Amino acid sequence: MNKLKKAFLVKYGEIAIKGKNRYIFENILADHIRDAIKPCGDFKVSKEQGRIFIEPFSDYDDDEVINRLSKIFGIVGICPVIVLDDMDFDLVKEAAVIYMKDEYEELNFTFKVEARRADKRYPLNSMEIACEVGAHLLDNLPQLKVDVKKPEVKVWVEIRSRAYIYSKIIKGLGGMPVGSNGKAMLMLSGGIDSPVAGYLVAKRGVKLDAIYYHSHPYTSERAKQKVIDLAKIVSKYSGNINLNIVPFTDIQLYIYEQCPHEQLTIIMRRIMMIIAEKVAEKNGALALVTGESIGQVASQTIQSLAATNNVCNMPVFRPLIGFDKQEIVEISEKIETYETSILPYEDCCTIFVAKHPVTKPSIKSIERSERRLEKIDDMIEEAINNIELVKIK
Ligand code: ATP
Ligand code: MG
Repeated sequence: MNKLKKAFLVKYGEIAIKGKNRYIFENILADHIRDAIKPCGDFKVSKEQGRIFIEPFSDYDDDEVINRLSKIFGIVGICPVIVLDDMDFDLVKEAAVIYMKDEYEELNFTFKVEARRADKRYPLNSMEIACEVGAHLLDNLPQLKVDVKKPEVKVWVEIRSRAYIYSKIIKGLGGMPVGSNGKAMLMLSGGIDSPVAGYLVAKRGVKLDAIYYHSHPYTSERAKQKVIDLAKIVSKYSGNINLNIVPFTDIQLYIYEQCPHEQLTIIMRRIMMIIAEKVAEKNGALALVTGESIGQVASQTIQSLAATNNVCNMPVFRPLIGFDKQEIVEISEKIETYETSILPYEDCCTIFVAKHPVTKPSIKSIERSERRLEKIDDMIEEAINNIELVKIK
C-alpha cells in the first residue's frame, strides 16, 4: 500500500442540531477554518455529513494547524485522520494496521474499534466493520489487547464518502462559530475581567465590536496600547474587532467639577453605558458586554449594578456575574490575556476615584446629581464624534 494520506476531520457539537439553519452554521464554521489555516499551507475545506473535512495539498506543520483549529469556536474535536478514497474493505483493514504502526511507537495497550457507517450502501454494517478491523489488528499486532469497556485507545473507522481512520481527538473550544449569533459591543478596559467577558460572549457565536474610554493625559499611551494588545489577543478567538477609542477626559473632569465625589464612579459608569449604547446602535450591535461580577468592587454591588444598568435599553451581558476573581483569572490565563492585563498602567476608573465611593447608591440621588451636568448631552455627542477607530485583525 502507498503512503497513507493524512488529513483532519473536524467535529462540531451544537450546530449539528440547529435544524434548517444548520447549513448556515456549517458554512460559517468552514469559512473560519479556511481563514485560520490559510497561512499554514494549501488546504481544501469541505463539509462531509456532519463533519468538516480538511484535506492538505501542500506541506504543513501539524502542530500549527491544530493550534489554530483549537482557537475556533464551534469545534468540539479535531481528529488527525488518514483517508482512503478507495473504500475496499481489505484496503481499510490494511490501512488500519499501517496507521497504528505509524502512530504509536509501542503497540502494547488495550484498544477497541469504533465504527460508523454514514454510507448505508457499504456492504458491511458498523458492527461488522468494528469486529473485522479489530480482529485484523489483533492478527497483525499481537501485543495489542482488546478491552471493550475501558480501552486505552479507541480506533475509529468512519465510512462516509471516503473512509477515515483515527484514534486521537483533540478537544476543541466548543461554543458556536463567531458571526452565527449577531454582534455585541464589548466595554473593554485594560483589566483582567473584560477581555474574559468578551471571550465568553464570542464563544456563543457573537461577533464583537469594542469600546474603550481613554482619559489622555491622565491615562497614558501605554494604557491605550495595552487595550489594543488585549483586543488583539481576544480577536484570535473572536475574529476582527472594531475598537472604538473614546476621548473621555473632558467628561470625567466635568463630572468631577459638578458632582459629589463619592458618586463619581457610578455617574462615570452610567455615562460610559450611554455612550456604549449609542455607538453600539450606530454599528449594528444588539447588546453591551461588561466584565462586572457581583460585589467585586464598590461599583459592582447589586445597588451599583442596578444604577448603572438603569440608563440602558439594550440588554447588558455580564457573563462573569457569578464568577469569583480566581475563576476569572484562570480563564484569562488559559486565553493568554492575563500577562497583558496585569501590566501596571493606570486606567481611567482609578484616577478619579473617591476615597469613600458610595456602595449603595440610590438612583434618585444619582439622578439629582446628574441634573447639574447641563452640558453632558453635547459632550457625549462631541466624544462620539471624536472616536478613534482601530481595526484589530
Ligand atoms: P476590568 O478587569 O474588566 O477592568 P474591573 O474589575 O476593573 O474590570 P470596573 O473598573 O468597575 O471593573 O469596570 C467594570 C466594567 O466596566 C469593566 O469590566 C469594563 O467592561 C467596563 N469598563 C471599565 N472601565 C472601562 C474603560 N476605561 N473603557 C471601557 N470599558 C470600561
Ligand atoms: Mg478595570
